[in-house]
Amino acid sequence: MSSTEKTSLLKMVVSQIDAACERLNVQDSCRLRLRKCERELIANFPVKMDDGTVRIFTGFRVQHNDSRGPCKGGIRYHPDITLDQTRALAAQMTMKAAVVNVPYGGAKGAIICNPKLMSQSELERLTRRYACEISLLIGPESDIPAPEVGTNPQTMAWIMDTYSMAKGYSIPTVVTGKPIEIGGSKGRLEATGHGCMISAKLAAKQRHLSLRVATVAIQGAGNVASSAAKQLAREGCQIIAMSDSTGGAYNPQGLDIESLLNYKKETGSVIGFPGTDIITNADLLALPCDILMAAATERQITADNAAQVKAKIVVEGANVPTTPKASKILYDNGVFVVPDILASTGGLIISYFEWVQNIQSLFWQEWEVNDSLQRLLTDAFTEVLEITRAEKTDMRSAAHMLAVKRVVSAMSARGIYP
Ligand code: NAD
Repeated sequence: MSSTEKTSLLKMVVSQIDAACERLNVQDSCRLRLRKCERELIANFPVKMDDGTVRIFTGFRVQHNDSRGPCKGGIRYHPDITLDQTRALAAQMTMKAAVVNVPYGGAKGAIICNPKLMSQSELERLTRRYACEISLLIGPESDIPAPEVGTNPQTMAWIMDTYSMAKGYSIPTVVTGKPIEIGGSKGRLEATGHGCMISAKLAAKQRHLSLRVATVAIQGAGNVASSAAKQLAREGCQIIAMSDSTGGAYNPQGLDIESLLNYKKETGSVIGFPGTDIITNADLLALPCDILMAAATERQITADNAAQVKAKIVVEGANVPTTPKASKILYDNGVFVVPDILASTGGLIISYFEWVQNIQSLFWQEWEVNDSLQRLLTDAFTEVLEITRAEKTDMRSAAHMLAVKRVVSAMSARGIYP
């Protein structure tokens, strides 16, 4: 990453919101509010470890903006997460909910920890204590967590149970991404990857490309990347490479995704998968292919490597995988980018459906969930595309303009209390 790009994730996210405010001529009172998160909770709390020692963990819950409805956002367990990054990811959630027009504001939570080095019982005690700490903010009508990096449906089940125990009755609406047995929605587990596949399909249409003949390189091999890979393979795409934090596996003739993911499960890495060449993450980003899916982590496509991207389409499954400078290089080079605040909203959209189903105590068939996801994402994609044409701009700026416009309309309608 070039030294001029070492600006914080929060600054990057705020600068995108600011740029949209500028283009839309948003009044200062709203601009200033959008630059800051509305509420932030920091908790330092003890957890008993399996060996009898006690460790102090730090967790956050941050609400960026609730003008359009209750806050919504995942909970990340990661050793490198910071409060500033959590703020950035919370602001991204406000943008995501607005761009796909679901009635939520944005939030994010995190615990600084390495879940890969903790036992299930340690994770349970950590999660339940964190749930107690953040119960000041979360609730079915105020702020609804979901899984993110390092967390999963089991984490949500512990949060739901802890919150329910404190209230004295079951409250499934307090989290989404729960196991099906306690009110989770069909289609939720694969939702973000599913949204990435739909985004790739819509973008491919713009480039007169069919997914049936498209070649795809995917950065990442976690929840989002693996479900996107399976769904793209089902659509007929040839997935030629996948990677994880240790490097990638490449075969220009295509990979058998199910076998690759089983191999990763068994060995812990995609590296060395039979019949593939070992490549670096830098190699993967520069592979000749039709679609590059960035589904790993932040700031992967930078000013240093953006010019090497050969894909016609970049789909951002991860949050903020592309720096602003890289974004401009891709646009200037004619790469069609489906930005994170649009492409990675599948999980958010199906979380919304889960919440609605829980409120109604009425469960949808999988096809109803998936058809509704397809409809909401297609509508948002079409609206964003229309803005790119009217404003002669890229998909990222257009998506931010659409989102900011919706959030500012809500803020203006509500006014300032008191
Ligand atoms: P995950 O932890 O399941 O997977 C992350 C993957 O990225 C892993 O395979 C890891 O090895 C790989 N990785 C990490 N650092 C890397 C690097 N420097 N280079 C290459 N690979 C690297 O996480 P996930 O849930 O799949 O989330 C991935 C991204 O998608 C994150 O940015 C997350 O914020 C975003 N996202 C997730 C969801 C969700 O529902 N899980 C929803 C929206 C957005």
